[in-house]
Amino acid sequence: GEGSSRILQTRNLRKEFGGLTATDDVDFALEEGELRCLIGPNGAGKSTFLNLLTGQLEPTAGKIYYDGHDVTDLPSYERVDRGISMKFQVPSIYEGLTVAQNLRIPLQQVADGDAFETRTREILERFDLLAERDTVASNLSHGQQQRLEIGMAMALEPTLMLLDEPVAGLSVEETAEIADLLREISDDDGVALIVIEHDIDFVESIADRVTVLDQGSIFREGSVEAVKSDPEVKRIYLGE
Ligand code: ADP
Ligand code: MG
Repeated sequence: GEGSSRILQTRNLRKEFGGLTATDDVDFALEEGELRCLIGPNGAGKSTFLNLLTGQLEPTAGKIYYDGHDVTDLPSYERVDRGISMKFQVPSIYEGLTVAQNLRIPLQQVADGDAFETRTREILERFDLLAERDTVASNLSHGQQQRLEIGMAMALEPTLMLLDEPVAGLSVEETAEIADLLREISDDDGVALIVIEHDIDFVESIADRVTVLDQGSIFREGSVEAVKSDPEVKRIYLGE
């Protein structure tokens, strides 16, 4: 958006798995509050890139700068403290716990006493889970589970949220709900987002800009319209 500044920058970021280069000297930049979609064929290195940003994976070479600081060597929990929050591809909610108990896990890191109760209620309301407060997570619909996970990520009051395929397997209605929530998180909260997603209609409905990864490298970057109509992108990504 207007007057925004850079929140994330990678320099020559590289990850090798044995002889395979999953992230190939990537220079990636993101502005505060920007919603960026990351697309590309299977095996392009999308998940690896996010896992390097969270600290789940250690880079082979290169640097990650966040909010003006070199965070390349920081452990994951310190990156969370600095505002980097992740919603993983694999569900990370506790299926045997209730919605409120799940929310307690991230919230107890940032709030206590009255603030804790207030924040719990705010998140339940915002993510349309108030009626499910005492529902065991395994009994939630897939869409409710995804909303709970995004709520848990938001509980940590991030400045960057990373989401790996947040609408995979969701219905059209559930997908539209998630799209609205992600746009609000960007527009109203000013949180920057990187969203990995295959569904180009979903990408079109949410993204400020799109980055196309291919074989570990940035292949194209730009508006959804520009990327979508690029014949080379169609060739590598859409298989046309
Ligand atoms: P995407 O998310 O775009 O589908 P990934 O980042 O999961 O791609 O994978 C990129 C490449 O790295 C793939 O060739 C994948 O097989 C390989 N890869 C990913 N994680 C590992 C790992 N832990 N060990 C070895 N190879 C990996
Ligand atoms: Mg992946």
